Amino acid sequence: MGNKLTQTGIPEPNIQQLLRRLPKIDDCLAALTAKPSLHSIPHACIKSSVRDFIDLQRQRIFKHELVDEKVLNLSQMLPAMIDHILKKDQVQFRRVINATGVIVHTNLGRSLLPAETMDAIHEAGAHYSNLEFDLETGSRGSRYSLVEDLLCELTGAEAGLVVNNNAAAVLIVLETLAKGSEVIVSRGQLVEIGGSFRIPDVMRRSGATLVEVGATNRTHLHDYRTAISDETGLLLKVHCSNYRIIGFTKEVENKELVALGREQGIPVAEDLGSGCLVDLSCYGLMKEPTVQEVIASGVDVVTFSGDKLLGGPQAGIIVGKKTIIEKIKRNPLNRALRIDKFTLSGLESILRLYRDEQTALATIPTLAMISASIEVVDKRARRLLRLLRKDLKSHCTFSVIDAASRVGGGAMPEQNLPSRAVTVEPQHLAVNRLECALRSRDIPVIGRIEADRLLLDMRTVGDDEVPLLHKALRGIFY
Ligand SMILES: *Cc1c(COP(=O)(O)O)cnc(C)c1O
Repeated sequence: MGNKLTQTGIPEPNIQQLLRRLPKIDDCLAALTAKPSLHSIPHACIKSSVRDFIDLQRQRIFKHELVDEKVLNLSQMLPAMIDHILKKDQVQFRRVINATGVIVHTNLGRSLLPAETMDAIHEAGAHYSNLEFDLETGSRGSRYSLVEDLLCELTGAEAGLVVNNNAAAVLIVLETLAKGSEVIVSRGQLVEIGGSFRIPDVMRRSGATLVEVGATNRTHLHDYRTAISDETGLLLKVHCSNYRIIGFTKEVENKELVALGREQGIPVAEDLGSGCLVDLSCYGLMKEPTVQEVIASGVDVVTFSGDKLLGGPQAGIIVGKKTIIEKIKRNPLNRALRIDKFTLSGLESILRLYRDEQTALATIPTLAMISASIEVVDKRARRLLRLLRKDLKSHCTFSVIDAASRVGGGAMPEQNLPSRAVTVEPQHLAVNRLECALRSRDIPVIGRIEADRLLLDMRTVGDDEVPLLHKALRGIFY
């Protein structure tokens, strides 16, 4: 009996016949026992991966992607099967090389921690600690007290505490100060950060009611004043961290808003987002208010991230007036949003580095990458260029070009840091195939494609990663 014809006139493959040809699981397992590359993988895992692999082939047959009987024999399928098993066995959370030039890259893990901070985290994990134990009195202590003094010293605030992330910090501040009452925010500051965090949504969840004032581009002090009622619980400022309103604009200065709050007996909060403790404007970036400056302006409570410009572990830092911080500490939500011992030890280590600004700039990777001179980045790019040209000249064309890095993490939008990128133009391979191949290396490399070339921005690549990048590219062609 002949095969049915499809609409295009090509004989439709006999699906049943193909399915029958698929190797049996037991035969696969027998063939795999001798493979040394699989020796360290538990048998049950191999078995489940083989099932999974055969299932995938079955689906390909149904979708007419697999139509050739010849490829269905076991020895033909074995290499792909082994690849599949090894891939399934791979650690899923992996190191990558960030060649995007985005320093605080939320998708790639935001901030990198210095070695001494990693030591502190290791110490916290490998041993018992005084996490909630007062070593002086021998009785129960509070985990928050471990970093509070440092936070106060560095920011000039009266008190502070740390929660899981900045979204949690904003939530608990609103829940504590404004649940069941109104919060006045300028229309130009109703921001969305990274898809799932929108000030109006967080506000709703906290039980506070949003009162928007002003126009998108301009908000005046009298807009706030007119909106104040008996229901008002808080005046909130949100730092426009990931966008900028330019042109005919007006925002109310902190000290005017603080004076209004004082006069009306209403607290003022500011969500700084990517809070920074050092002024980065000398590195060609726009002046952003530091946490110290915001506290000095009289704002009652300030929230910011631990892993954006601060360059530490993921955390939400809340600093401000003692009476307010005490209230937040007593909020039962605090228990649900609390930070773990690794974060706490990492954060203390990072904050200690800030006690000397030059030390912070030199040792905290996020700050070091921002402040690295173009000469340093250029030298790194040329080093990679030399390595690549030496043994891949017949496969690709390479060059070093000017590029623009970004701070990222929603911080300082529209501002570029001058950088250098190594470009890779493969001669016999589509550039998107190259980009994809680099992503599947042992240490995946993340770059970007621009005008049919792969760009590797060297500001976010460590000096020690240059040989790894070279090796990754080499592995694709040899
Ligand atoms: C990033 C950001 C947040 C959220 O901080 P996470 O630490 O990511 O939770 C909140 N507000 C502003 C203004 C931000 O920029």
